Amino acid sequence: MKILVTGGAGYIGSVAVEELIKAGKSVVVLDNLSLGHRAAVHPDAVLEIGDLADRAFIDRVLSKHTPDAVMHFAAKSLVGESMQDPCLYLGDNVTNGLNLLRSMAEHKISKFILSSTANLFDQPEHIPITEDERIIPGSPYGESKYFIERILHWFSTIYGIRYACLRYFNAAGASETRGEDHDPELHLIPIVLQVALGKRECVKVFGDDYDTIDGTCVRDYIHIIDLAQAHILALDALENGNCVYNLGNGAGYSVTQVIETARDITGHEIPAIMAPRRAGDPATLVGGSEKIKRELGWKPRYPELRAIIDSAWRWHQAHPNGYQAN
Ligand code: UDP
Repeated sequence: MKILVTGGAGYIGSVAVEELIKAGKSVVVLDNLSLGHRAAVHPDAVLEIGDLADRAFIDRVLSKHTPDAVMHFAAKSLVGESMQDPCLYLGDNVTNGLNLLRSMAEHKISKFILSSTANLFDQPEHIPITEDERIIPGSPYGESKYFIERILHWFSTIYGIRYACLRYFNAAGASETRGEDHDPELHLIPIVLQVALGKRECVKVFGDDYDTIDGTCVRDYIHIIDLAQAHILALDALENGNCVYNLGNGAGYSVTQVIETARDITGHEIPAIMAPRRAGDPATLVGGSEKIKRELGWKPRYPELRAIIDSAWRWHQAHPNGYQAN
């Protein structure tokens, strides 16, 4: 089976490629390398460099490789950025996804897995958040993913595309060889570990007046290998129809708890200073994943925050400059 992975040079996509190859699939990566890294692409995957804004390029890649399924990771994914530049999200994220789906329909490729997000749930009535929760996107980023979910509904109805929407909570951790390297880095766990490595002075805590256990935001961290495994299970499940799953560990940790756990693992004091809230951040996002466990037998290998941060720490120590040569 051949899978096209858009964004396969990025943080989550590159680990999904690694797991797909371990599972015996052949993989083509489509990436414009604007945020991803050539060095993150598995050597057994074919890399096609180009942009999803370019429909002729997508058509060429689909004609050349005729994949059986597409996993779509390539997108802008920063809540804060989307609150400052909504068009990047409501425009590019949506248009690029539509371009890809339109070409897939033309090439009669009928299986699609979407990286969706917990940012669909800005005001959850119940924690942990299940698939039945009311959708109220928290930012243009979340809205852009919701648009793609709706496009999928119609492409399924009209063109017969089978799809899975996987709504991730906070992707974190690393495999032995692939980890998180953004420029600039804006995510909590890599920032905290950069402080531990002496590459930053301190971590800023965005808001300590939320209605949570210690006033800082609570998130549900999920290991990227567990996310990748969910994609592989969802791929097989497409034989039975469309599916939508929330992917979290059902356990929330505050920003302060993440910093404390990292202090314990790294043995570094990791100074933290309080800073204003970041626009678009909900107080608490904790996901319930009972549905995917029940229906697909998904079983996270690294459900503990400690194991997640530990894997990230090992990767950051081995790659202090990320994918750049040390
Ligand atoms: N956060 C923080 N300081 C930082 C980066 C993040 O306090 O330098 C907080 C952020 O406000 C959120 C949590 O850490 O509550 C996780 O943020 P991240 O950007 O890692 O993931 P997101 O929840 O935006 O997907």
